[in-house]
Amino acid sequence: MTVNGEVTVSGKRAYDVLVVGSANADLTVRVARRPGAGETVLGSDLVESAGGKGANQAAAAARLGARTALLAKVGDDAFGELLLAGQRAAGTELRHVLVERGARTGTAMIVVGPDGDNSIVVSPGANARLSPADVTDAREAVAAASVVSLQWEIPPETVRTAVALARECGTRVVLNPSPAPERLEGELLAAADPLVVNEHEARQLSGRADGGPAEWAGALRALGARSVVVTLGGDGALAADDGGTVAVAGVPVTAVDTTGAGDAFTGALATRLAAGEALADAVRFAVRVGAASVTKAGAQPSYPTPGELP
Ligand code: ATP
Repeated sequence: MTVNGEVTVSGKRAYDVLVVGSANADLTVRVARRPGAGETVLGSDLVESAGGKGANQAAAAARLGARTALLAKVGDDAFGELLLAGQRAAGTELRHVLVERGARTGTAMIVVGPDGDNSIVVSPGANARLSPADVTDAREAVAAASVVSLQWEIPPETVRTAVALARECGTRVVLNPSPAPERLEGELLAAADPLVVNEHEARQLSGRADGGPAEWAGALRALGARSVVVTLGGDGALAADDGGTVAVAGVPVTAVDTTGAGDAFTGALATRLAAGEALADAVRFAVRVGAASVTKAGAQPSYPTPGELP
């Protein structure tokens, strides 16, 4: 069957991964010392790069060879062009990237201190205008994907609509609720297969200040998540589903810049789940992709092709 040219023959889906999410221009300056209130300090030259969790995950999946589409919204400004160029370079299908006249593209203003730690201010811009109606309009794309991947940098109502549509279409949902909301309602948890969270998000959403990754994953499953993946930085990740709980050790590398490592991981995970791999195997692969991404500067520029994996 063909729907708007997006679904190919006999149930084979046209996209491995559809990412519904944010696209931000990352504007980064390094400083020797952070300014206090009312203070001005001089920093390094400005570096502009393509970012945003949605755009990052799409770029990661496409670089790994997944047939990837991105449903996102940018403004008709130079930063929007930067985002489109980043996706084009990665090989993402761009027909669902919406360009809104008169809107500003989402922007992350990043200050990197001497110890490599970030302070970030995000201006959501066009991301805040990615609406439930935009998702409904892209219904064929949701139906044409094996996996839909979602984060939490677009309006929650838009995420809910995408999740509901994915369930209707039998499309697997990978949900990475980042930055983490206070709590996640049962319907979203029940649709997540898996829920992908880092340690901070796992603690917050499980409501358990104590314990470790296995306890957080167990608590999140008890709250309704079908499967859970907790990423653990250099220590790798933990996967929990009906088959059991598996800890995957980190890959030792020299970390240069961890920006966007979580997005590289999630894009890789979605890629392998779309190919029908079991959760633990997909996590083993994603841990290697996450590790590769920290060995180079930037988010999208650091994402590996299959030939560049450790
Ligand atoms: P970020 O917010 O920086 O994108 P995150 O907090 O969402 O990251 P992390 O758990 O820090 O996610 O990292 C995701 C994955 O990236 C890890 O599971 C691991 O595979 C890889 N990774 C991150 N940091 C390192 C590191 N220092 N060494 C090796 N691998 C790493």
